[in-house]
Amino acid sequence: MGKALIIGAGGVASVVVHKCCQNPDVFEEICIASRTKEKCDALKAKLDGGRTKIQTAQLDADNTDEVIALIRSFQPDVVINVALPYQDLSIMDACLATKVHYVDTANYEPLDTPKFEYKWQWAYREKFEQAGITALLGSGFDPGVTGVFTAYAQKHHFDEIHTIDILDANGGDHGYPFATNFNPEINIREITANGRYYENGEWIETPPLSIKQSYDFDQIGPKNIYLLYHEELESLAVNIKGLKRIRFWMTFSDNYLTHLKVLENVGMTSIEPIEFEGKEVIPLHFLKAILPDPASLGPLTKGKTNIGCIIRGVKDGKEKTYYVYNVCDHQEAYAEVGSQAISYTTGVPAMIGAMLILQGVWKKPGVYNVEEFDPDPFMDALNKHGLPWQEDLSPVLLDEVK
Ligand code: NDP
Repeated sequence: MGKALIIGAGGVASVVVHKCCQNPDVFEEICIASRTKEKCDALKAKLDGGRTKIQTAQLDADNTDEVIALIRSFQPDVVINVALPYQDLSIMDACLATKVHYVDTANYEPLDTPKFEYKWQWAYREKFEQAGITALLGSGFDPGVTGVFTAYAQKHHFDEIHTIDILDANGGDHGYPFATNFNPEINIREITANGRYYENGEWIETPPLSIKQSYDFDQIGPKNIYLLYHEELESLAVNIKGLKRIRFWMTFSDNYLTHLKVLENVGMTSIEPIEFEGKEVIPLHFLKAILPDPASLGPLTKGKTNIGCIIRGVKDGKEKTYYVYNVCDHQEAYAEVGSQAISYTTGVPAMIGAMLILQGVWKKPGVYNVEEFDPDPFMDALNKHGLPWQEDLSPVLLDEVK
């Protein structure tokens, strides 16, 4: 059916590559391009021989001209950006110049200030419309599947949605005293930022990790969850009409938070450059270099993730509650594609987003977040491609947990 250029060769990219190769009728040819070509070649070596033809390329995706040149030589139908959020705009510019569809899993981030805002990418709407190409933003799990879950609830279960709580639980254990499950820099930037949620038309800011609850997760058990800001809150607050409140919660163990606090207190999570032995060093970049590579956690991690949305609203004049979630097993994910569940739950939806664009099912000129498309084909694809979802019509609500 088509050709995909996959940019990045980290934990998430590895899953995307495996999943594309499992669907050779859709992904006839792929090119894996990243800063370190050896990582692309290693992936190719692992997966070569199937029906999907694989090429690799060295690419600095910060350089739009390099991306344009690669697109011109490989001629993909879609670019799947699973490098880092810093590259989103340079890759979108290259897609515009060559009129190729675009998919990513994280919003653009300027290098110097963590913002978690869609404004830079939403500013491309008209340009993508005029070029007749689709940009699908945030097609990972959260953002991504959480938006699809919400759109599905809106379509099938509610006349009006009033509140959404997104719950992201990781019950996995990798055995290290401290490690992050995906890119440490992005992960730590996200967690050390202020919390924020949307209520009655306003954004309410809270100090980092200051709002804590406990929740008993299916197949994981009780966990402490903390209110965080997460990028899908911004798009869902805009796209779900009548929404009164949306919050995002993530589990962290006491051990993880103690390590993080110490690192923060000594200045290791800062993105302000410092001078060290005549060289400029960004403490968070240095920390990333000494922490375990998230890709190496795959064989070690045991346990499950449970991510979903508890949604309340009204259907046929009556109050209704709906919980939709996916449980993913770290070891099963590793056995299938050689990556733990965090990468798996991001890479599978990235592949699905690209697949729906290639199939013409989710193709519409412009820049869109996942919840702006018909959720049904995506929900079917989740069940088919390794992330089956479950529903609960009478879940325990966060407000009921003491
Ligand atoms: P990794 O750090 O494992 O991989 C990032 C890859 O991008 C590496 O191969 C890296 O190359 C490559 N890269 C970095 N800069 C450039 C550049 N300038 N040009 C070309 N390649 C580059 O990250 P993950 O795989 O864990 O995460 C990938 C993306 O997925 C991130 O944007 C992350 O925010 C997002 N994500 C989204 C989630 C969701 O649910 N929506 C959840 C988890 C992650 P090198 O090997 O040389 O370092």
